[in-house]
Formats: sequence, C-alpha cells, structure tokens
Amino acid sequence: MDQTQNDGRALRRLLDELGRLPGIGPKSAQRIAYHLLEADAEEARRLAEAILDVKRQVHFCPICFNYATRETCDVCDDATRDRATICVVSEPRDVSAIERTGTYHGLYHVLGGVISPMDKVGPEQLHVKELLSRLASGEVSEVILATNPDVEGETTATYLSRIIKPLGVRVSRLASGLPVGGDLEYADEITLGRAIEARRAV
Ligand SMILES: [Zn+2]
Repeated sequence: MDQTQNDGRALRRLLDELGRLPGIGPKSAQRIAYHLLEADAEEARRLAEAILDVKRQVHFCPICFNYATRETCDVCDDATRDRATICVVSEPRDVSAIERTGTYHGLYHVLGGVISPMDKVGPEQLHVKELLSRLASGEVSEVILATNPDVEGETTATYLSRIIKPLGVRVSRLASGLPVGGDLEYADEITLGRAIEARRAV
C-alpha cells in the first residue's frame, strides 16, 4: 500500500496520526499539524527522521529488557552502578521515572508487563525466567519490587517475592506513600525517591 500517494488528504492523515498519540486530543493534534505546516521543511524532516530512527535503532536490552540503543542499555553499561541490587519494574518508562529521582544506583529488570489473569498474562509471558537466571549468578543480594501500587502490581510483587526469597536474596517493596492505584511514572520525583529509600523488606 502506498502511504505517500497524493490523495489530497495529507492534512487529514497527519491529524489522524497525531490524534492517535497518547495525551494528544483533537485540539492539540490541530495545533501541532498547523505548526508543522508553517515550519520549514527541514524542521518537519528532523521530526520525521527522529521518529524513524527511534524505531530503527532502539531495541530491548538483552540483560534487563530496558530500551537500549547500543548492545546493552545505558544502565547495564555503566560500570559505576551497584550490581548487587536489582530493581524490578513492569515497563521501561518506570526505569526513567526511577532514574529521574536520582536516588537509585543499582540495576533494573523490566518484566514487560504485570501478572493479569484477566488479560491472560501469567509469569510465563513476563521476563521472570530471565530475572531468575540473573539471580542465579549469586552477585545480587537485594531485589526491590517496584511494580505499580495497584492490584496487578501487588499480585506480581507477591508472586515474585515468593519465588525469590527461597533463593536467599533479600526482597523489598517500595514504601507506601505512593498514590494507591497510581502509576509510578506519574509519581513526583520526591515521593518516588522517598519510597525507594524507605523500602521495606517483604
Ligand atoms: Zn540493561
């Protein structure tokens, strides 16, 4: 299918595509589309290329499943990070949220979702096996379970603590104080930073 054909509906198509982005309503889509129409061709090309490049170059880190542009991600690559601590999160955007707090200096493990019987997601659909094989190296002394403080996040944390504790690894959970049912990524940096520092053993 030729997406670039001149069917006279280029503006409509741009509005439709922009409107599909999260957080962009019809009004914002229109504002962005008109901005791009008025901008010079070079600015529009830079944006289009940035979108294409991110799809071409970014992949999952084979160690922690965070986003990576080199072979492994920036955190796994960083020799100054504390390799004895792994913070388990559900999505790569949670890594960014925790990194923004500046309070955590260990490694991460991104599950790629949460246990959700309703959506037919069990531990086998998540990167749990890979987490266990990282723990098998014996290098890790603490796992921080930083899934969201909602039902599925709690279920996932409970499941993981049950299988990790017998391995002799300390397991902790973010301190309460985060809005219940909320997303880590929307917690402010200070609250999230405190929740990490005040984590409790489970
Ligand atoms: Zn990584």
